[in-house]
Amino acid sequence: MSRPLHPAPDETHHPALQSWVASANDPATDFPIQNLPFGRYKSARDADWQIGVAIGDQVLNLHATGLIEHNNIQALMRLLPSERRRLRLALSQGLRVGSPQQTVFQAALLAQAEVRMGLPCEIGDYTDFYTSIHHATTVGKQFRPDSPLLPNYQWVPIGYHGRASSILPSGDSFARPRGQTKAPDPAAPVLSACRRLDYELELGVLVARENRLGEPIDMAQAEDHVWGVSLFNDWSARDIQAWEYQPLGPFLSKNFASTLAPWVVTLEALAPFREPFSRPPGHPAPLPYLDAAANQTQGAFNIELEVWLQTAAMRQAGHAGDCLSRSNYRDAYWTLAQLVAHHTVNGCNLRAGDLLGTGTLSGPLPNQGGSLLELSQGGKQTLPLSNGETRTFLEDGDTVVLRGYCQAEGFRRIGLGECRGTVAPART
Ligand code: CA
Repeated sequence: MSRPLHPAPDETHHPALQSWVASANDPATDFPIQNLPFGRYKSARDADWQIGVAIGDQVLNLHATGLIEHNNIQALMRLLPSERRRLRLALSQGLRVGSPQQTVFQAALLAQAEVRMGLPCEIGDYTDFYTSIHHATTVGKQFRPDSPLLPNYQWVPIGYHGRASSILPSGDSFARPRGQTKAPDPAAPVLSACRRLDYELELGVLVARENRLGEPIDMAQAEDHVWGVSLFNDWSARDIQAWEYQPLGPFLSKNFASTLAPWVVTLEALAPFREPFSRPPGHPAPLPYLDAAANQTQGAFNIELEVWLQTAAMRQAGHAGDCLSRSNYRDAYWTLAQLVAHHTVNGCNLRAGDLLGTGTLSGPLPNQGGSLLELSQGGKQTLPLSNGETRTFLEDGDTVVLRGYCQAEGFRRIGLGECRGTVAPART
């Protein structure tokens, strides 16, 4: 099935656009007027969740602009793509230098430093995929040196159902999990605090529009059901995982905490950063239900990703932390549209607020691993840090910060903000 190409960049993406919000014109901001991501916040004057739009170092109360008649994020997510583009245009026009709405919008602004951001919406079901072939191969080598990549990988977007109850907003800490682990020698496992605690650099794909049970979403419609993407850290307990994962996959090694960034960067905002999507030479074409011309020409997204680590000692010394790795979402083996089409091919219904994790987004090079499991080669290689400390896995007090941004010739750089979480000691 063919369909017109995705909407091309329009006037809202014009690189020369400037906002009357001065901080939005700072070349270093993640949130220039070309971005306009959505999130939820509470403030001293708002006890209930408010829908906010990030602009520079400010947040704009969407309801107070008069552009929507409610303060219901679920209703916002259900908008048709054409309605979402109209809203984006209206926000862009209201925030531009010289806008006649400046006075009304000005009254709807708060400093981001004065609000508390939450999860971007109530998360419904959470599914985690495994879309980086580089991650799958490197990790597979550690568990199965002879056959790192199982034969289904090229055909099935591998995933499992996770839990939404333990998804945390950025900035929260969580206790190091306890669980069953088993060393090779003793016959019996023990219950202990995790000793191989890890992060996973992922993107969270927020589902906006539901499909009915029994009615699959095809590739041509898949992206119409997606709101946007947000940085996502799927914390993982590698020692618990190694003992429990067969035969049904990860369980308690994954569901103790995951951290989601506050800002959802919409697919509309990402229009200038689409790229052709292709498979490595020699790989089979996906089955027809996972293939589409538009997916080949524009299905990938150029999103640069970074993992930063700030240890407790660094924090005490005022040290911002070390960048541990960089990768790019364009290197994923399955696209966002393919995840939606595959998830629903059996008739499974997605709902507004469902979260699809991409899986760890590692790049092709060894230093582009999106987890410590990869960077430390399963704990065998110690990572030196710039302040003299070292790591194989995470220690108590470590803060992991994920960052992401998009840049392309002829367009304004936009960012995804940050996804931040801190490891607290295990409960005794
Ligand atoms: Ca994961």
